[in-house]
Amino acid sequence: MSTKTSLLRLGNMSVLVVRKPIKNLHLAVLPPDGKVRVSSPLRLKDDEIRTLIATRIPWIRKHQATLLAQERQSPRKYVSGESHYLFGRRYRLDVEVTSGRPQIYVKNKNRIVLQAGPGSSPKRREQVFKDWYRTALRPVLGDLLEKWSNKIGVRPASWGIKRMKTRWGTCQQEAERIWLNLELAKKPFTCIEYVVVHELLHLIEKKHNERFLDMLTDYLPAWRSSKEELNRFILASEKWNH
Ligand SMILES: [Zn+2]
Repeated sequence: MSTKTSLLRLGNMSVLVVRKPIKNLHLAVLPPDGKVRVSSPLRLKDDEIRTLIATRIPWIRKHQATLLAQERQSPRKYVSGESHYLFGRRYRLDVEVTSGRPQIYVKNKNRIVLQAGPGSSPKRREQVFKDWYRTALRPVLGDLLEKWSNKIGVRPASWGIKRMKTRWGTCQQEAERIWLNLELAKKPFTCIEYVVVHELLHLIEKKHNERFLDMLTDYLPAWRSSKEELNRFILASEKWNH
């Protein structure tokens, strides 16, 4: 079957278009990282496809939210074949048994290798992962805080990384302390940067009022797409006639 693939951009969404001899358009939102793919009849032009996808954006967002909820509920087992994320990239986990100290490293750009003792529990492996994420995240946050403290002209008295269930970051204005979520290690740099700038601005303005949003937009004009991306995970597919 003759197919031709191309990329289309719709706002901040990038859509893979696969043209082939079929009758109807088929839209799919692919796990695990939510890429949007459209299979299209050969005759449809880019603009026609763009228009059709635009009408489906609420549907796409709805399924993104559903998947995010599922993602949060399904605990990782830390076994070979699972997907794990570092700075927005997806890696396949390979578990190797070792008698030495447990360790993790990235291999060949698409693998995360976890060396763990025989019979180590998922809880123990999770702890090794957490330590690894923390080690990876700390210098990234340190650099971003330095860069943006200089730009904005405010500096936290202290900052730290911790696990939080419902927030990406918090700012204790009186203590001038910023906490950032360990989970950010899984997210793209642009998302991490958004959270850092957001929390730094809370040193100036406590509320999410107009003043706050104006400053945020001044410093990071694309903050809304970073915020969306932070909360995006997708699993969906549908066919429609046109
Ligand atoms: Zn806030």
